[in-house]
Amino acid sequence: MTKFIFVSGGVLSGVGKGVITASLGKILTEYGYKTTLIKADPYINYDAGTLRPTEHGEVWVTDDGGEIDQDLGTYERFLNQDVPKKNNMTSGQIYKSVIDRERSGAYLGKTVQFIPHIPEEIISRIKFAAHGYDIAIIEIGGTIGDDENIPFLFASKKLERELGFENVAHVMVTFLPIPRHLGEMKTKPTQQAIKLLRQEGLVPDFIMCRADKPIDEVRKKKIDASAHITSENIISAPNLQTVYEVPLHLHAESFGKKVIKRLGLKEKKEADFSAWAKLVARIKKPKSRIKIAICGKYIELGDYQIADSYLSVQEALIHAGAELDVGIDVTWINALDMEDEKNLKKLDEYAGIIVPGGFGKVGIEGKINVIKYARINKIPYLGLCYGMQLACVEYARNVCGMSGANTTEVDQTVKYPIVDLLAEQKGVTQKEGYGGTMRLGGYPAVLQSGSKVLELYKEAQRLEADKKVIAQLLQDKTDRFSDAMMAAVKKDSNIIVERHRHRYEINPEYVDKLSEAGLLFSGYHMRDDKTTLMEFIELFDHPFFVATQAHPEFKSRLGNPSPLFFGFVRACL
Ligand code: GLN
Repeated sequence: MTKFIFVSGGVLSGVGKGVITASLGKILTEYGYKTTLIKADPYINYDAGTLRPTEHGEVWVTDDGGEIDQDLGTYERFLNQDVPKKNNMTSGQIYKSVIDRERSGAYLGKTVQFIPHIPEEIISRIKFAAHGYDIAIIEIGGTIGDDENIPFLFASKKLERELGFENVAHVMVTFLPIPRHLGEMKTKPTQQAIKLLRQEGLVPDFIMCRADKPIDEVRKKKIDASAHITSENIISAPNLQTVYEVPLHLHAESFGKKVIKRLGLKEKKEADFSAWAKLVARIKKPKSRIKIAICGKYIELGDYQIADSYLSVQEALIHAGAELDVGIDVTWINALDMEDEKNLKKLDEYAGIIVPGGFGKVGIEGKINVIKYARINKIPYLGLCYGMQLACVEYARNVCGMSGANTTEVDQTVKYPIVDLLAEQKGVTQKEGYGGTMRLGGYPAVLQSGSKVLELYKEAQRLEADKKVIAQLLQDKTDRFSDAMMAAVKKDSNIIVERHRHRYEINPEYVDKLSEAGLLFSGYHMRDDKTTLMEFIELFDHPFFVATQAHPEFKSRLGNPSPLFFGFVRACL
């Protein structure tokens, strides 16, 4: 029987519930328990695809095409596990299911009410995602005391009553401020948050104390005395140099052991954190450091926004760096500044350049200038999604002599539409029911033998690993496998899966011309109508010039870095 752990947050949001949840998941997995992580988002948006405009911020994409909040990304990066979209639920989805069911007559004339119908729907979704796992950890978004939170807290209590105390545990992540004028850590907000949780009938088993510093025994005792939580279960969770250190810290605090005991379980095996600890040590103190430039258009929103927009790209660089024992200093380059060719010289100080995903016209010419500079000056280049499309545009313009070549995303009347919206693709994505015209989620690609891309995926043993993903996609009955693609699968050719989130494609009509001029298309996907979509490009006479239509950053994990990021960082070194 599956055991459930609910993680809620007290005092304020944004204190790292996601990292704590992922870290606990990692620890329980280390103890031999098959663990899955679920995120409950109290907002009414149906999913994160509409939560954030595409122009701002990164939306996490799952293999099965979900557009989800970043927390699922944290889970995957820590657990080295593909987390499907059913592991995320929003209030919007829950209400919609209940109302749809009512409309279809499934409640048989009953009054449909907030209680019990909404919590029942929450519980059924939790059980659905938890099926087949030993332990499911459910992170409840928002903060205790928010009205929006109540149905989820109610559901957790209901589940506890249904399954019994020993099968459901509660962790509250709290924040302890150290006001500068007092210079002392204060526990009062935490005491009050515990009271708020009690109002919902819940008693937290563990209090996770986020703060600038570790919580001391005196303050643990204070919470113990005032809120009746044994101080042994009050766990210190101070700021650390890297989030990847959190599982190590919590393990040292015996958090996993205590949770397992609380659930009436025993460790199935010794937790072995040696490999993880080695990577964390390298992140903290790498042998060397390199500088990498990421050229995007988001810079005008301020540093904080940018970092968030490309969170997965940054994490993928950290993972590759940890593997190669190199620290990576990222500089954000404003694409608009690069429109003036005089500024391109600045790029000489970087070991490598990335043009990541993006949408719209702004900064396009700057990005194209940067790609040309990287190509000609043999600076390692990694292009992600838009970064591949624009690399093809650059090649068409400057190598194939197609002056003014462009993507129709920027110029709809362009003479050489190197990147274009494909009508048939629109049809397919609409059929899949995503509402929009995006190609979303994991798509298989056949890799070209003799290519650098294939070599890198082989080195990372991804061909083997992705077989499982392919099996899952087949089971899900997506139409991502056309007969042509299936034939390739059967022939056991070199197939991998990466995740996508874009509308435009390399225009098949120009592939031959670009190839003849020396651009290698090193991977493709084939649709039902036999349209071949280009997924990877590379150049031979260059230390590293690789780009992909996919977002490989979504499959990069600590200890299992993305092959393309790994190859890129190694080339930079
Ligand atoms: N704007 C491009 C497209 O929609 C690229 C998107 C991306 O980089 N994610 O195809």
